[in-house]
Parts: sequence; C-alpha cells; structure tokens
Amino acid sequence: MKAIRIHRHGGPEVLTLEDMPVPEPGPGEVLVRTEYAGVNFIDIYFRTGLYPAELPITNGQEGAGTVATVGSGVSSFGRGDTVAYTGVSGSYAEYIVVPSEKLVRTPAGITTKTAAATMLQGMTAHYLTRSTFKIDSSHTALVHACAGGVGLLLVQIGKRFGTRVIGTCSTPAKAEKAKAAGADEVILYTEQDFEKECRRLTGGAGVDVVYDAVGKSTWEGSLGSLKPRGMMVTFGNASGPVPPLAPLELTKRGSLYLTRPSLWAYMATRQELEWRAGEIFDWILSGDIHVHIGGVFPLSQAAEAQTRLAGRQTMGKLLLRPTSA
Ligand code: NDP
Repeated sequence: MKAIRIHRHGGPEVLTLEDMPVPEPGPGEVLVRTEYAGVNFIDIYFRTGLYPAELPITNGQEGAGTVATVGSGVSSFGRGDTVAYTGVSGSYAEYIVVPSEKLVRTPAGITTKTAAATMLQGMTAHYLTRSTFKIDSSHTALVHACAGGVGLLLVQIGKRFGTRVIGTCSTPAKAEKAKAAGADEVILYTEQDFEKECRRLTGGAGVDVVYDAVGKSTWEGSLGSLKPRGMMVTFGNASGPVPPLAPLELTKRGSLYLTRPSLWAYMATRQELEWRAGEIFDWILSGDIHVHIGGVFPLSQAAEAQTRLAGRQTMGKLLLRPTSA
C-alpha cells in the first residue's frame, strides 16, 4: 500500500510517498481501507517536531473508509462497514489498523468524505463549546481563525446555541465565509487591533470566552479581550507556541481562567467519543452545521495540502484521497 511517511523532521519536503506492507489487525483491532484522510494542523506539528514522536511515522490522525478485516475478539464491526476515527496515528495511508474502541460507524446520510472531515475538528469544536466552556445565549465568544477548519465549526455551533460570535481572520474572503456561517462580527486581525475592536464591539465589557488556536501572535490580545472572570481557551499553535505565563497575570487582568485543552483528554472514554461524534453527526444531518470542504488532494500531494494549510491559504477542511480508493 501507499503511505506518507516521515523519517526526519522538517518542512513539507520530508513527507515521502512510500510502499509499505498492508498491516494486519491484532486482537481488538480493525483494518480500515482509507477513503479519505483528514488534514489537520496537528499533522504539521508532528512533521516539524513541535509535538514529539519517535520516527519514522506515517502522518495523519483522522480518516474514514470501509472495514477490510477485523482482528480476533471484534464483534461490533464487520467487513464492509463504513467507519471513521480520530486519535490514531497513520491515516495518510491506503490502509490503517484502528483499535475498535476508537472507531465509530458513520450514520446513514453521512458520507465517508464528510465523516473524515468531521471527526477531529468537529469533536474539537464540540468539546470546546459543550465541555471546556459551555456556551449559551448569554455569552459572547471570540473565535480566532474563524474561517479555518475548527473555526467555521465553532462559529456554527456558537450560533446553534444563540451565542454572539465575534470572529477574526486574515482576509475579506475569509470574513465573508465566516459571516455566511453565522459570525455576528468579523475582525480582520491582519489590519485591525482585534483587542481594541473587541472592546468596542462589546461596549468595553470584553468577551466571556476566547477560543484561540492561533497561539503566539494572538495570545496577548486574547487575554486583553476578556471580561473579568472570563475564560481563556488556548488550544493550538498555528503561529507558534504561547510564552510562559505567571499566574499573577491572570489576577491582574480580572481573575481570568486559563486552560490548555486537547481533544484526546476530552474523548477519553467510549461514552464520550460516542456522545461527541453522535451529536456532531446529528447537527450535520439536521442542517444546523455544514462542514465546508476546502479541497481534496490525492495522497501523493500531502505536502501541497500542508503547505496551503500552513500558508493560511485554506478555508474549512482539507482531505487526502488515496488513489486506489
Ligand atoms: P485551520 O484551518 O484553522 O488553519 C489554521 C489557521 O490559523 C489559518 O488558516 C490562519 O487563518 C490562522 N493563522 C494565524 N496565524 C497563522 C500562522 N502564522 N500560520 C498559519 N496559520 C495561521 O487549521 P485547523 O482547523 O486544522 O486547526 C486550527 C487550530 O486548532 C490549530 O492550531 C490546531 O492545532 C488547533 N487544534 C487543537 C486541537 C486541540 O484539541 N487542542 C484539536 C484540533 C485543532 P487566518 O488566515 O484567518 O489567520
């Protein structure tokens, strides 16, 4: 089978298309034939070495496809089932072995294309808004990179729960996309001081919660955009990791809350995985949220897909499609 492998950390050029043996599922495992693999910013962190992994690895953390074979002891899935997963390394490949407890069945009406575009970013947007800070109609949320994969979903979930959503992004085209998805106001943070603008838009009050995965470049402004006792959710490093912070800073800025969550801790149990994936799929089926797929690339063009994602040239989700699928 073909797979995108990483033997050393670096730029997109370290992603190499290689032939590998098709893996065999062990006890409790399922061999999935990949139809689509999701491209996520976390793939770039593993490629550059920002997130540690023992090399070589096959890149990718998310995908969907059909069950090819099952290992011993697996009774909940069978050959031909359409399934999706995240949190398993190696999805940039024609086949992947997935522990059965990490797999979900794709419901009727959800294609493998949509499922592959939904598992990681959809469940992230779900835990951020339902668990980390449970938004409702009394809240105002600031969502950075609001036209990105996670961003567009946060905007739509915000609207679903009646939250006022202020978004930030880099271009007018992205702003238009986020507004069409339901953002109440969008600030071009490449042109305007978003902290000042946020204060102005909230009559000086500030926002209840900031969802910030841009990281380094927005960190200070995000802290400055919060109301007293507001919640700073820093969940990514698209522009680089955030600097260390002395807890007293939180006191000075109005007794803020700070959290640095990751999806893996929020899908720690089978029950949580089924709840989050189930609700996200339900919201897609009911039309409450739409998953915008910004591009589908052949597996061999994984480097191009990551170059565009890292280069801020994308809106919504990018997918890879193995040639034989
Ligand atoms: P996006 O589609 O959101 O792409 C990243 C966006 O970040 C860009 O489009 C760009 O939007 C913005 N950005 C701002 N500054 C930079 C920069 N210097 N370089 C690159 N991009 C920049 O990606 P994803 O939806 O895949 O991920 C979004 C973030 O969420 C990532 O940081 C990711 O790590 C994080 N994440 C965290 C998870 C968690 O559980 N902790 C889980 C999933 C994702 P613009 O042009 O509008 O500025």
